Amino acid sequence: MKFFSTRSGAEVSPAQAIARGLAADGGLFVPESFPALTAADLAAVTNMDYRNRAKFVLGKYLTDFSEAELAECVTAAYGANFDTATPAPVVEVEPGVHFLELWHGPTCAFKDMALQILPHLLGKAVAKVSPGLTTVILVATSGDTGKAALAGFADAPGTKIIVFYPRFGVSDMQKLQMTTQVGNNVAVCAINGNFDHAQSGVKAIFADEKMRKFLAERNLAFSSANSINFGRLVPQVVYYVSAYCDLVKSGKIAMGDPINVVVPTGNFGNILAAVYARNMGIPIAKFICASNANRVLTDFINTGIYDRNREFFTTTSPSMDILISSNLERLLYLLYHNDSHAIAQLMKELQSTGRYTISAEARAQLQKDFWGGSCDDAATASTIGKLFTERRYLCDPHTAVGVNVYNQYRQATGDDRPTVIASTASPYKFAPAVLPAITSAAIPADGFAQLELLAKLTGTAIPAPLAALRSLPPRHLDWVEKEQMADFITRFLS
Ligand SMILES: *Cc1c(COP(=O)(O)O)cnc(C)c1O
Repeated sequence: MKFFSTRSGAEVSPAQAIARGLAADGGLFVPESFPALTAADLAAVTNMDYRNRAKFVLGKYLTDFSEAELAECVTAAYGANFDTATPAPVVEVEPGVHFLELWHGPTCAFKDMALQILPHLLGKAVAKVSPGLTTVILVATSGDTGKAALAGFADAPGTKIIVFYPRFGVSDMQKLQMTTQVGNNVAVCAINGNFDHAQSGVKAIFADEKMRKFLAERNLAFSSANSINFGRLVPQVVYYVSAYCDLVKSGKIAMGDPINVVVPTGNFGNILAAVYARNMGIPIAKFICASNANRVLTDFINTGIYDRNREFFTTTSPSMDILISSNLERLLYLLYHNDSHAIAQLMKELQSTGRYTISAEARAQLQKDFWGGSCDDAATASTIGKLFTERRYLCDPHTAVGVNVYNQYRQATGDDRPTVIASTASPYKFAPAVLPAITSAAIPADGFAQLELLAKLTGTAIPAPLAALRSLPPRHLDWVEKEQMADFITRFLS
């Protein structure tokens, strides 16, 4: 399998795509084509456990990894570090509505599904393409990626990791998870700015010649653990394949029946993985793209105009507070039939004017596949409350945005085919937003008292990794202006 840059058609191997993270021209690496899952493949995958499903799907893309290497990676990634028997269980909450719970890993958000395996994939990829090199993982996070990447990469051989997060844009639990991170190769720094500033800063540092030279002199090279790295995307394809197979196996659907998929969306990585699963042959009829008040994607799907020139809102679903959805570039590449010149042009327009308009043909295809909707914080809270009262199912604010938009979709279209809703975080990670949605009692100020109250009210258990934070001392208290990210990096690496 070859990989191309979305912006120039530059060609690399799967290992190179993972080792580099981002193409030198600023583009994202995409596979030349989609490996097809035949009916026989799907029947076989249905009878596999999660690890073997992962090995099977990864093997279709990562053709320069041996079977033994992939087996090592999936064994290391998906085991007792998850608190459920299978890493991504499917839970039916009302007839035909299934929650794909992606938050049973060590940091309680869906990012673990990819970031528990990425360090292993990356280690093997770098050993293939540039042995001896130390990889510096540079992460911009809206909250969940940072901790998940830290948990994956802490003390991973041949790597260092540097995480930037918006100083006032993450939840207390998210912040504590990051500032208490142990490991000899980790740095964590807040910036005075929002997630888009952090992400743009990281992208600029990637492209900076001086910085490249600084690293090369020390036998270091940057890579990315953000969902711009294909090594993060492909493990996410696995759980859509897996969820479909689970529905077949439990008799909820027959093999070949189409389903809808609902994804609370920020950087467009999770929903893009569902598109990749569809392109491999998983029958998905509609992708329902759910946004919070930062509804840049809703507007894009409805109009074909992407316009980031708008007010930025800080919401109760902070991991979706994003106005530049990086992975959309990979969808555009598909909508434009792999025309890298067209993509380079659109991205240039985005860079210079903050907006672009896609062609009428691309828009028609987009609207055929996708339905976009959004909801504000008040609607998010009432969705959490209603789901809990009516179905005794507790969900976090990100997932609630998905549920709310899914209800809008059903009302607008009457489409009630079996549906999988990506459930992206443990509600315990966002207790200050979840508690007022389910009780009128006073909310304690202390974060851990909040967790205890949530457990008492719902009869669910506090996830062990969050309970453990209480006894950990904060270690990373640095913050910088958003213009000073490069200085922080050179200080850490010197
Ligand atoms: C990252 C994240 C999202 C958004 O996922 P994208 O792949 O960026 O679209 C949604 N919910 C939670 C809890 C997340 O951590």
